[in-house]
Amino acid sequence: MTIDEVVREVENNKIQQIQCLYVDNGGIVRGKVSSAKTLKQHMVGGIGLTPAMQAMNMMDELNLDSGLGPVGEIRLIPDPESFRVLPYLSRTASMMCDMVALTGNPWTVCSRSFLRRQVDHAKTLGFRIIAAYEDEFSLAHATPEGSYVPLDPTLCFSSSGMVAAHAVIADIMDALESQGIDPEQYYPELGHGQHELSVSPREVLQAADNQVRYRETVRAVAAQHGLKASFAPKPWPDQAGNGAHIHFSVWDIDADRNVFWDPDDPYHLSMLGYQFAAGVLAHLPALVALTCASVNSYRRLNPRSWSSAYTAFGPDNREAAVRIASVFWGNEARSINLELKASDSSANPYLALGGLIAAGLDGVARQLPPVPPLLVDPATLSDAEREKRHIARLPQSLGEALDALEKDEVLKEALGPDLLTAYVSVKRSEIAHFRLHDAEYEFRQHFEKF
Ligand code: GLU
Ligand code: MG
Repeated sequence: MTIDEVVREVENNKIQQIQCLYVDNGGIVRGKVSSAKTLKQHMVGGIGLTPAMQAMNMMDELNLDSGLGPVGEIRLIPDPESFRVLPYLSRTASMMCDMVALTGNPWTVCSRSFLRRQVDHAKTLGFRIIAAYEDEFSLAHATPEGSYVPLDPTLCFSSSGMVAAHAVIADIMDALESQGIDPEQYYPELGHGQHELSVSPREVLQAADNQVRYRETVRAVAAQHGLKASFAPKPWPDQAGNGAHIHFSVWDIDADRNVFWDPDDPYHLSMLGYQFAAGVLAHLPALVALTCASVNSYRRLNPRSWSSAYTAFGPDNREAAVRIASVFWGNEARSINLELKASDSSANPYLALGGLIAAGLDGVARQLPPVPPLLVDPATLSDAEREKRHIARLPQSLGEALDALEKDEVLKEALGPDLLTAYVSVKRSEIAHFRLHDAEYEFRQHFEKF
């Protein structure tokens, strides 16, 4: 869409407000609203923002170690391609923004520009990346005492769970579809009040934008049903965690061809696919600082939780951090993909997907040898067996993951020093914040914010 086409859509739909959104270093979706009349001016000239917003953590604390302070200015530039009328708010649309420095160049601390850079890097190699988030979320009632109780105590995949959540899920599916996000499968998940709704893959920048729209849509539609929806990685101590697994594949830039496909491999994964997976696994202890981005994330990554706890790789192995997803009949060559399980919705999706691409392409560049597929639950192996197979425990806290990120030359270079410094300091300030409080407070804050 061009700027003028967006303006016409705004007029035709009698839109009053356009939410111009971005995701910050704390993983929170924020933005400013443009009026319909001023939208054109905002698309051309940008919307002013203080750089300090990229120094803010999920508790709205400004973090001065980030290198970002009260002085200066950047511009939010809404991407015309991302314009969507919001079906759940009257006369309102949303657009995703890039952050641009006053020089006119992409701002070095902009996460969407970081993902664009990784997409461009892939393009120079002849590749485009296709991805889909597979989100789980919790639906809950707020009690008069101020706590949250799960909507339903039903069983995993149970038909009674489908009935319990039917009305809200129906409206969520409609609302996603009207924004160009195609629901694929829905089911009640293992945890009480936990539901999963998967969507079709898209070009990776759009997949990241869709993850923002998805989080916004689920929460808003649930609220209209009098429910709280939360994407907190671990919503309740005794219930399953909410994952946001990432399915991804690499395609030829010029041809409609999935280059992860190899009909002759036992798992139908090409050498390029094995190299990409090996890159992701090699960087995983650092990558999780981007994909499992909150203090609460590390309560989810436990053995025997199907969330992954080790740097393991295997075909249809639901305890492996990277799974080769088996192909579907009639669609073999297109459907081969890898799944990253060590990922949740407290992450900034632009950072998570950009980091995933940087890690995978590093495996391709170095032509890493295929990691032997693991056909058992890694938790059943002895420490010695795991060590022999180079299977390591994933970081057990956000702090450990950030330590690994600060040592990972490939991810550091991809992020660049400004984004890395801002991100790490914001995340370390969240660790410091939650250290001052008890576990109940941490659960509660993540439940409410995500
Ligand atoms: N809830 C699990 C997680 O934390 C995933 C269960 C599954 O879909 O396999 O990732
Ligand atoms: Mg699931």
